[in-house]
Amino acid sequence: MKQIALYGKGGIGKSTTSANLSAALGEVGLDVLQIGCDPKHDSTRMLMHGAWIPTVLDLVRERGEGEITTDEVVFTGYAGVRCVEAGGPEPGIGCAGRGIIATFQLLERLGALKGDVIVYDVLGDVVCGGFAMPMREGYAQEVYLVTSGELMALYAANNIAKAIARLSQRSRSSCSLAGVICNAKNTEGEEELVREFARRINSEMVAYIPRSRTVQLAEIHRQTVMEYAPASEQAAVYRSLAAQVTANTRSSIPTPLEMDELEDLALQFTPV
Ligand code: ADP
Ligand code: MG
Repeated sequence: MKQIALYGKGGIGKSTTSANLSAALGEVGLDVLQIGCDPKHDSTRMLMHGAWIPTVLDLVRERGEGEITTDEVVFTGYAGVRCVEAGGPEPGIGCAGRGIIATFQLLERLGALKGDVIVYDVLGDVVCGGFAMPMREGYAQEVYLVTSGELMALYAANNIAKAIARLSQRSRSSCSLAGVICNAKNTEGEEELVREFARRINSEMVAYIPRSRTVQLAEIHRQTVMEYAPASEQAAVYRSLAAQVTANTRSSIPTPLEMDELEDLALQFTPV
């Protein structure tokens, strides 16, 4: 079983990329489980044709862990992808990472952490507590950083790289950096900047995903690109990402940058 995690800043395109990646993996017959680890709990929505599935944290809060069955938290979406949403606390109370911790506990107990591939879609703005969980206890061995050329997205990716570097020193964690995925926002010099950033942190840019209107159109139709526009160029991009992820053997201990190095790097690729 392959367990991979996609980490990145909020709004960078983790869920869009994860859902299309899962769909592409499902389409070639793999048994895929996608776990949304973001309080926004919309990771699997397009796979579920727009439905908001109940979150693990909500169910645990209402009924207690002992009462919950697999069918109540794992839902089958497009291409047979099994979908789970960790959920998050009510605004203003509780810790955002709690949902993720509760999810791991419950899925472990239910024996539901299985399949050919598990895709964790994780908010990487703060790599603390629950958000570090997929990398911590030997779950995701391969972490992909999703970023654009925007400084704040690179900043978040660099922070996650710091967490991987730190956690890789611990014996119980087997996580490493598998690569950087550029989800384009069409900033100037973006592809070259992200490629160079990946190189500098001892990794590689493994995919460049263009910004595409097809993504928006699919979203309006509450579908993944894979389902809505299977013949599109964008679908081909996700299909090739899926092939790459399946075949990946690349894993490295990242060498994160200092803030001023990161800013200098961004400046270098931004014409003034
Ligand atoms: P995250 O999960 O990182 O918070 P989302 O996947 O929800 O981000 O994406 C945020 C928004 O950006 C969504 O409205 C999505 O449709 C859009 N988006 C993501 N990737 C692309 C892309 N490659 N081209 C166009 N729009 C995209
Ligand atoms: Mg998301």
